[in-house]
Amino acid sequence: MRIGIPRGLLFYKYYPFITTFFKELGCEIVLSPETDKEILNLGSKYSVDEACLPIKVFHGHVAYLRNKCDIIFLPRVMQLRKREYICPKFCGLPEMVINNIPNMPKTINFPIYAFSQKSLKKWAVKTGFLFTKNYLKIQQCFIDALSVQKNFLPGINDTDYELKVALVGHPYNIYDNFVNMELVSKLHKIGVGVITEEYIEEDFIDKEVKTLFKRPFWTFTRNSYGFSSYVGINKKVEGIIYLSSFACGTDSVTIEFIKDRLPKFPILVLKIDEHTGEAGFDTRIEAFVDMLQRRAL
Ligand code: SF4
Repeated sequence: MRIGIPRGLLFYKYYPFITTFFKELGCEIVLSPETDKEILNLGSKYSVDEACLPIKVFHGHVAYLRNKCDIIFLPRVMQLRKREYICPKFCGLPEMVINNIPNMPKTINFPIYAFSQKSLKKWAVKTGFLFTKNYLKIQQCFIDALSVQKNFLPGINDTDYELKVALVGHPYNIYDNFVNMELVSKLHKIGVGVITEEYIEEDFIDKEVKTLFKRPFWTFTRNSYGFSSYVGINKKVEGIIYLSSFACGTDSVTIEFIKDRLPKFPILVLKIDEHTGEAGFDTRIEAFVDMLQRRAL
């Protein structure tokens, strides 16, 4: 069976698990290409205007795949950590996509609770039974997929740059080079190194999150706040670039938390949507880096 896997949202962080699991179940993987103009146009065409850019881009990937496979994987990611959630748009993602895009094939959209191996296994067993009745085989596919995922370290941690910034934001903004207009390469070209949240130990992030008056409800807020706060307070970088999408509910709160924690620390917030002009985007980055360089003198 050909299974379509959209290259969007948390694919960037969890593709080793997903592709290994389905491949070992015997599926032929049909992956959508890297985001480009065609994918973005499809996404804008089929999703509601109010949706954030990553959700539109995800629609584009699904629309691209719908005639090329027998079934499409629509990840309804509910939880990655206990007592925290992702974003309401992830919970309702399959409904949005199925109702917005015509002529959809069948989909896999069981809720994914990935806060423990046991909870994730429930998803794997349910999903695996769509392809085989052999429980032991499903179990082995799950174990193999987990092991591939464990050996995968996403993220960036540049070491050979005098000036370094923390790049904060959702993985689908940071690692999709079309939507972020090659931000990391642009920074490298002007002599700026980057570190992302994956390179900060979980304990340090947890410690910083405790400085909030209330534990965050959203995992993205926990990660972005904890990471920014740690690198800012401990002066691990010269500045922070927060890459956000217009209409992102969690970011609107998270950015304020970070500014409140680091009132004097240089922070640049870059908001992106499908209309963001590259020239203005570049000018803001260059002006920010120029300011960082002057401060360093
Ligand atoms: S967290 Fe923000 S950017 Fe991500 S899907 Fe939700 S609203 Fe969109």
